[in-house]
Amino acid sequence: MESKETLEKKPLDFIRQIIADDLATGKHKTTVTRFPPEPNGFLHIGHAKSICLNFGIALENNTKCHLRFDDTNPSKEETKYVESIKTDVHWLGYDWGENLHFASDYFDNLYDFAVQLIKGGNAYICDLNADEMRQYRGTLTEPGKNSPYRDRSPEENLQLFEKMKAGEFDEGSHVLRAKIDMGSPNLKMRDPVIYRILKAHHHRTGDTWCIYPMYDFTHCLSDMLEEITHSLCTLEFEDHRPLYDWVLDTLETPCHPRQIEFARLNLTYTVMSKRKILQLVNEHHVDGWDDPRMLTISGLRRRGYTPESIRNFCNTIGVGKKSSWIDMGVLEKSIRDDLDPKAPRVMCVLDPLKVIIDNYPEDLTEMVSGKNHPKDPEMGTREIPFTKELYIEKHDFMENPPGKFHRLGPGREVRLRYGYLVTCVSYDKDEETGEVTAIHCTYDPETKGGSAPDGRKVKGTIHWVSADKGIECDVRLYDRLFNHENPDADKEVDFKEYLNPESKVVITNAVAEPALGEFEPGSRVQFERTGYFCIDPIDSKPGRPAFNRIVTLRDSWAKQQK
Ligand code: ATP
Ligand code: MG
Repeated sequence: MESKETLEKKPLDFIRQIIADDLATGKHKTTVTRFPPEPNGFLHIGHAKSICLNFGIALENNTKCHLRFDDTNPSKEETKYVESIKTDVHWLGYDWGENLHFASDYFDNLYDFAVQLIKGGNAYICDLNADEMRQYRGTLTEPGKNSPYRDRSPEENLQLFEKMKAGEFDEGSHVLRAKIDMGSPNLKMRDPVIYRILKAHHHRTGDTWCIYPMYDFTHCLSDMLEEITHSLCTLEFEDHRPLYDWVLDTLETPCHPRQIEFARLNLTYTVMSKRKILQLVNEHHVDGWDDPRMLTISGLRRRGYTPESIRNFCNTIGVGKKSSWIDMGVLEKSIRDDLDPKAPRVMCVLDPLKVIIDNYPEDLTEMVSGKNHPKDPEMGTREIPFTKELYIEKHDFMENPPGKFHRLGPGREVRLRYGYLVTCVSYDKDEETGEVTAIHCTYDPETKGGSAPDGRKVKGTIHWVSADKGIECDVRLYDRLFNHENPDADKEVDFKEYLNPESKVVITNAVAEPALGEFEPGSRVQFERTGYFCIDPIDSKPGRPAFNRIVTLRDSWAKQQK
């Protein structure tokens, strides 16, 4: 859990300020918030913002936050989404306790409220079809026209509503509409539909119902029934608010939650719409909902993000009223900042080039001691085997290095991290391909641990792994899924045109120091000089770990941006 201190030092955002004021004035003795996902997809980083806000407020005030599934659309909703949403909220570090709710639990209440509206002359059954209804609705500049069915008597409306419920009508033939004002400048107030016929199987209520309440009718009443004090939602619901209030006012409900809108999270280099995320999965542009490149919570978890880093990210971006964009670099920084103090450092060679130390004894294995963290002695040390044949990265050797290249080249001396100082004496080359196949070095036996007793300066330090003691592993170098800041920006261009072809580079011949064989799946480490990695819990096999790159050590995208 993020420390209370970080929250307290920051000025309150406008929602927390409203809540603090309501508690101070005694308007409310306590607060109740809710997170209301529709179980029609997996949660993503945008939802995390809403989760951290709603559950965060509850934690800070020692009050409750409900988890409520807004399951009023049976055709798109599934139990598997309910389960994954629960898992994700828990993983983020939050708990709804006993307050798990489903809008579908209120179907009876909602029906009764609809009857009440009808009896009060505040709702009517309309027989216009969808097209006709659109024509009658008017536009932003023109008022709508009253439906010819608007003046049906409450008795007739009640009978028709009962018939709708009894399944006597076809889908689309009748709807229940709130009787508000077809001349309202707010289109949402032009006699909105509040019940529709849907002959679909519901994941919880089965075939009990063939009429289902609409979001705007369901949400405010569910909030009211749960005695939510502050109903926090994103800005696109601003013009739904008068309808939210109208329903509760008209029904004279005993409690009236306050809807407050905040800006949704927009993040660069990604798409956040559930429809587009679903398309990426269904068309196999990614390896499923939990593909480590996806900004779903399950994808971020698989990639190796920590819950702390996501909570800190949400804390950093804050909550405001104006919609804005957050750079992907901010999310990446949050995981670097979280892992830097706690990820053990290890060595892994991703692109191996063999080094033979000519003057090192054939059968000798020396154990050298490596610090698990350069700044935290409490994280201890580990033993790393040093042998005659080692691997280093190909890019740490050049045949004709320029002066500024401080790594290996003919005649150059370099420090093998925690090992010895070695000097390149020659190299083998495949004459046909021109590829360097191995390099020969000599080591200075006086320099064990990496420092020279004569004080001579060696600028470069490179990582390495013993050729016969190292373990082979798979490494997946993940990067941003899109190579465009806003894949959605251009209406003429399909967002998939901006998929980054290099977002997943798979290496199957990486070599890691043996200590890595003992890490649990899910562990996060820093490969020195390379990046932060997580041992994939699914693809790793005993003795052969598979690593996911969580993030590089530095933001290589920042300089590419215009
Ligand atoms: P849709 O309603 O189109 O299916 P949705 O993303 O709004 O998609 P919901 O399940 O309704 O999905 O969202 C649950 C909650 O998460 C809502 O309160 C919603 O406002 C909030 N939410 C969704 N996307 C974001 C976002 N990008 N930033 C902040 N909050 C979000
Ligand atoms: Mg929604």
